[in-house]
Amino acid sequence: MRDANVIIVGGGVMGCGIALRLRQAGARVTVLERSIPGAEASSAAGGILAPQMESEGPGPFLELCLRSRALYPDFAAELHALTGVNVDYLPSGLLHLAFDEAGAQRLKATVDWQRALDLRAELLGPAEVHALEPQLSPQVVAAARFPDDHQVDNRLLTRALTMAAARVGATFRTGYVRGVVEEHGRVVGVDLDGETLRADAVVIAAGSWSGLVQGVSVDPRVVRPARGQMVQLQTRLPLFSHVLFSDKGYVIPRADGRVIAGSTLEFAGFEKNVTAEGLHRILALAMELCPALASAPVQETWAGLRPYTEDHLPILGAGPLPGLFLATGHFRNGILLAPITARLMAQAVLGESTSVDLAPFRFDRFPRR
Ligand SMILES: Cc1cc2nc3c(=O)[nH]c(=O)nc-3n(C[C@H](O)[C@H](O)[C@H](O)COP(=O)(O)OP(=O)(O)OC[C@H]3O[C@@H](n4cnc5c(N)ncnc54)[C@H](O)[C@@H]3O)c2cc1C
Repeated sequence: MRDANVIIVGGGVMGCGIALRLRQAGARVTVLERSIPGAEASSAAGGILAPQMESEGPGPFLELCLRSRALYPDFAAELHALTGVNVDYLPSGLLHLAFDEAGAQRLKATVDWQRALDLRAELLGPAEVHALEPQLSPQVVAAARFPDDHQVDNRLLTRALTMAAARVGATFRTGYVRGVVEEHGRVVGVDLDGETLRADAVVIAAGSWSGLVQGVSVDPRVVRPARGQMVQLQTRLPLFSHVLFSDKGYVIPRADGRVIAGSTLEFAGFEKNVTAEGLHRILALAMELCPALASAPVQETWAGLRPYTEDHLPILGAGPLPGLFLATGHFRNGILLAPITARLMAQAVLGESTSVDLAPFRFDRFPRR
C-alpha cells in the first residue's frame, strides 16, 4: 500500500500535513484545493498550542493534544529544514487569568487535576502574576500558569506545510471537488469540477466544508462552521510574553510586537464577516487583560470558520466506505493537532496500525438525525 495513489480534498494544515507524511512514506499524493492552500481556517487561527488550557479533563482528547504538542519542536525544525521557513514556534507559556474569587477557584480545580496527572501547572496569586507580567490589569486576582502551552505563527506554518508537501513531491491542483466517486461499494476517486480523478484512497480534509462533499456521508450539521473574529494590534516592544487567556478570550504576543486578539464563537453559516459587535467585544477584552493595549494601532481584522463538531472532538480515520478517510472537525485545536493528525492519517491510509487508538474519533459516533 506504500505506493498508493491518494487524493486529498482540502489544502489547509490538515490536507498539507497529511500529504507531507504520505508522500514521505512513498505514496503518490494529489491535493485538491478550490482556492489558495491554507487560505481558510488555517491562516485565520491564533496558533495557540494549548492542550492544558483547552482540556476539560483527562481522556483521549487530552492525550491526543498532548502528543501533538510534544511533536511540535521537531515538526517546526523539520519544516524549517525542508523549506527554509521559520514557523516561529515560541515556547511562551500561557496564563489563564481570573478576575474574581469564583474564577480563581475554578482555576485551582484545573491546576489540581492536571498536577495529579503530572502535568506542569501552578496557581499564582496577584503579586506573583504581576511580578511575571507587570503590564497586566491590576484587577487580576489569580492565574493558572501552564508553562508548556505554547504558540506558533500559523500563517507561516500554513505556508511552510504547503511548501514542504510540494517539496517532497505532492502535486497540487486547483478545483472544486463536488463529490466522491463510488463503484461497487468502494470510493475510487473524486469528481473535480465534472472530471473524474481516480485514486486508491481519498482523504477528506475540507475543514468546515467537509459535509458538503457529496457521498462522504458526514451530515453538514455534524461538521459545521463556527465563526471566529480576530484583531491584530501592533506594539513597539512586546508588552507581555505569555499567551493570556480569560473566560472572554485571549491575546497572543508575537515576538515582533504584534498582538493577536480573539475571538468570537458564532454560528453564522458560511459568512466570514467581521462585525462591529465582534470587534467591540474583542477589543474590550484585550484592554481588560492588558490596559496598555488601548493605544496600540489596529493593523488588521479578519474572521475564519472553525470546523465545529458537537462533542468538540475531531473526526479521524476510516470513513463509511472502503477507500474513504476523514480528517476534519478539529474545531479550535487544528493548529495544535496538525502534526499528530498528519502522522495518524498517513498510518490509517497506508493500512498500518495507528500509534493512537482512533476509536474515540470515529465519524459515526454522532446520533443519526
Ligand atoms: C479565529 C480562529 C482561531 C483559531 N485559533 C486556533 C488556535 O489558536 N490554535 C489551534 O490549534 N487552532 C485554532 N483554530 C482552529 C484551526 O484553525 C482549525 O481547526 C484548522 O485550521 C482546521 O484545518 P483544516 O485544514 O481542517 O481546515 P481549513 O484550513 O479550513 O482548510 C480546508 C480547506 O479545504 C478547502 N475545501 C473545502 N471544500 C473543498 C472542496 N469541495 N474542494 C476543494 N477544496 C475544498 C478549503 O478551501 C480550505 O482551504 C482557530 C480557528 C479560527 C477560525
